Amino acid sequence: MTELWPDFEGATLSYISRPPSEAWQRERPRSLVILGSTGSIGRNALAVIEAHRAEFRVVGLSCGGNALALAAQATQFRPPFLAVADDATAAALRRLLPMGYTPAILTGGDGYAQLASLPEAATVLSAQAGAAGLAGTLAATLAGKVICLANKESLVMAGDTVREICSRTNAAILPVDSEHNAIFQCVAGRGQNIRSLVLTASGGPFFGKNSEYLRHVTREQALNHPNWRMGAKISIDSATMMNKGLEIVEAFHLYGIPASGIRVLVHPQSVVHSLAELNDGTLLALMGAADMRLPLAHCLLWPRCARPGAAGLDLTAIERLTFHAPDAKTFPCLDLARQAIEERNGLCIVMNAANEEAVRLFLEGGCSFVDIAQLTDAAMKKHRKNCPGEGAAYCPPLRTAGGPEKHTELAREVREATSRIEHLDLASRAFVRELAKFNHGAKTC
Ligand code: MG
Repeated sequence: MTELWPDFEGATLSYISRPPSEAWQRERPRSLVILGSTGSIGRNALAVIEAHRAEFRVVGLSCGGNALALAAQATQFRPPFLAVADDATAAALRRLLPMGYTPAILTGGDGYAQLASLPEAATVLSAQAGAAGLAGTLAATLAGKVICLANKESLVMAGDTVREICSRTNAAILPVDSEHNAIFQCVAGRGQNIRSLVLTASGGPFFGKNSEYLRHVTREQALNHPNWRMGAKISIDSATMMNKGLEIVEAFHLYGIPASGIRVLVHPQSVVHSLAELNDGTLLALMGAADMRLPLAHCLLWPRCARPGAAGLDLTAIERLTFHAPDAKTFPCLDLARQAIEERNGLCIVMNAANEEAVRLFLEGGCSFVDIAQLTDAAMKKHRKNCPGEGAAYCPPLRTAGGPEKHTELAREVREATSRIEHLDLASRAFVRELAKFNHGAKTC
């Protein structure tokens, strides 16, 4: 089955990890931990698992603070381990579980990391939202798991580190993000013959609008994605097109291709999930419904196939597929992402943190929609000015040579890298909050 793996020997692309081991591929049922099971991706994953119940053994589930939702999932799947954000949520969760079911409940960042590295599970679905997902992904990678990766921020913030750990621990990455999953399926077995990758973008709710229109859009308008039902953060990222910016960085790390080889096309119907261009100029595309259960099933069941019988795609009902060049002037986040890649990880971390904080402020009414890109840009400019050439210093190559006996040393190096990332992440968020407060004051004066 490894011929399905995009192992690009001698090609312009180099996939982030080797394929999962033969032993992992044979494991039945597949032992699985889900980080972020109550979010949109987690719920869709459990729907896939429910539809293939005999194929999976759920070992662990986790949430932030939604004890009620996690209790319902845990009652249904009975995993022996759960993880939540804090002790109060753990206590609430304990009260909601049925009599006689007493799983271990882990808490906080260490709890998520412990869940991600449990020896009882070979597969980890990393589906926490935003920067908070980094620690879990790194823990799973260090533990040599097969990671179904839905948390794109892990690669945006620490793509080089993830690649290096994978090469030492034989952890494997399967991409859940629909665009990267589509590309994975298109390039399988064709590594040497790829010229470029094309990420499609729906354009979000403001496709075709100009900057003046965007000045006055509301929270509700921005949250109203035309094609996908997703969490609030990714819906806003989709409206600003920062989601596609983050996905350019994600593709850069997953497929080891220069940013100049990754193009973006706006495709409002969200039927073509992305494309790979071959050297002769022909294009391979993956088309399907806008339903996250499809890429999730592809990863969770890889290299086997999902249960047959899913609703197909009726192209006659769609009638028309259109593609447009993105409007980089109205949606500057795409260019911010390309700048961040050129200057490597330091700036990617700043961009991601500043954007997350600005989106949070926008959702709380603390800044306008167009401020999101402006605040992010300002944070990146400040970082460039204050820390010239410091980008690479945030994620230097790990020094530890291979071999399991070196695992402790590798873990220590990864912890150091993580604390550098967290420091820059926090500083960037604080800067955005201050600047937004100042701007807000200036506007009301
Ligand atoms: Mg996506």
